Amino acid sequence: MRYSTSGGTLLRNVQPLFADLWGGGFAIAHNGNLTNARALRSDLVRQGAIFQSTSDTETILQLTARSQKLNTVERFIDALRQIEGAYSLVVLTNKKLIGVRDPLGIRPLVLGTLAGAPILASETVALDIIGADYVRDVEPGEMIVATKDGIESLHPFPPQRPRPCVFEYIYFARPDSQFGGHSVYNVRKALGAQLAAESNVEADVVVPVPDSGVPAAIGYARASGIPFELGIIRNHYVGRTFIEPTQQIRALGVKLKHNANRAVVEGKRIILVDDSIVRGTTSVKIVKMMYEAGAREVHMRIASPPITHPDFYGIDTPEQEQLLAANYDLEGMRAYIGVDSLAFITVDGLYRALGYEGRDPVYPQFTDHCFTGDYPTPLTDKNGTQRHQLSLLAEIA
Ligand code: AMP
Repeated sequence: MRYSTSGGTLLRNVQPLFADLWGGGFAIAHNGNLTNARALRSDLVRQGAIFQSTSDTETILQLTARSQKLNTVERFIDALRQIEGAYSLVVLTNKKLIGVRDPLGIRPLVLGTLAGAPILASETVALDIIGADYVRDVEPGEMIVATKDGIESLHPFPPQRPRPCVFEYIYFARPDSQFGGHSVYNVRKALGAQLAAESNVEADVVVPVPDSGVPAAIGYARASGIPFELGIIRNHYVGRTFIEPTQQIRALGVKLKHNANRAVVEGKRIILVDDSIVRGTTSVKIVKMMYEAGAREVHMRIASPPITHPDFYGIDTPEQEQLLAANYDLEGMRAYIGVDSLAFITVDGLYRALGYEGRDPVYPQFTDHCFTGDYPTPLTDKNGTQRHQLSLLAEIA
C-alpha cells in the first residue's frame, strides 16, 4: 500500500486501485503525488464521474476510463498527458504489465527480473526481498510495457531534463537501495564526509540519530577522524514518528523511540548527526536527552540543507508554517533546539556528495525544492488555476 501522502488513510484508498474499464481490468499503484489532481477531479465530477476514493491516483483511472483512444496503453498515455506532479506508476491489465515514470523522474522506478518475468518496484530492496535481480532503472519519461512476448520501451512524453528528487538520497529511500547510478548508503556517507569538510568542530565523539542519521555519521566520523559511537539507542518497536497523526502522539513517539547511552555521552563533547530537520521535534527531544545524560557540549550537524519549503510530490512534509527552517534563521534554530552549535550541509555540498561540482544554476541536476523552493512542475492545486477556481465557485453556487 502507498504511504498516505494525499487523500487520507482510508481503506478505499488502499492501492492498487482497480476498475473494470472498457477493454478489461485495470489495476494501478502509484508512488508519488499529483499536483493537479484536485483540479482534474472537480472537472471530472462536474462531467458526471463517480469517484470511489479520495486518492489522487483515482484521477488517472478516471481519465483512462474516459479516453477515446483505441487501446488501453494509448488511453493510459492520454490520461498521463493531463496529469502533473510526481508519479512512478505500475499498472496491470489482463495481458500487460506497464510501468511508467513521470517525465522528470521525480520518484524512482526500477526494473528487475525473476525467473524470466519482469518486476517493477520503486526501490531495489523490493527486488532483494523476493530474490529478483536488478536490471536497470526505468528512465524518466519512459514507459515499459511487458507482455508474454517481451518488453517494449516507449517514450510517450516530449523529452525534458530529468529532475529526480534529491530527498530520496537524503532520507526517503532505504540505504540498501540503489538507483540513479548510486548506492543510497554511499551517498549518505558522502553527505556526512562533506558535512565534516564544511563545518567540523572540535569534539570527542560523533553520535548518529538512529537510524536515519547513521550512514552520514559514519561518513562524518571517518572524514573528521573523530570516533563514531552509538550515543543513542533506538527502540525498534515503535514506528516512524513522522507517520503518527497528532503532535502529542508524535512527541510521545520520539521519547519511546530513542534513549541516551550514558556510557558514551557523559562528560563528552558530542557531534550529533541527523539526516534532516523537519519540524524540529526530534532534535529538541534528542538534544535534551543528551544534556540530561551528561553531555558537556552538543554540536548538531545536519546532512541536508535547511528544509524551508513543503514537498508536494509524495515526501509528505508538513505545511510551511510547521517547518522549523521556514520560521527561524540559523541562530534562531540553534537556540530553539538548544545546542552549542548547529550547521547544515550547503546546497552545493549536497550536489558534491552526489558527484557534481555543485548545483547547476540553469539546469539543476535534481529537484531540491524543499531546500530552494524551486518546484519543477506547476503547483496547480496549491496555487489554484483559474479553471480550478471556477469549478469551486460553481460548486458553491
Ligand atoms: P522532525 O522531528 O519533524 O524535525 O523530523 C525530523 C526527523 O524525521 C529526522 O530524524 C528525519 O530522519 C525524519 N524525516 C525527515 N523527513 C521525513 C519525512 N518526509 N517523513 C518521515 N520522516 C522524515
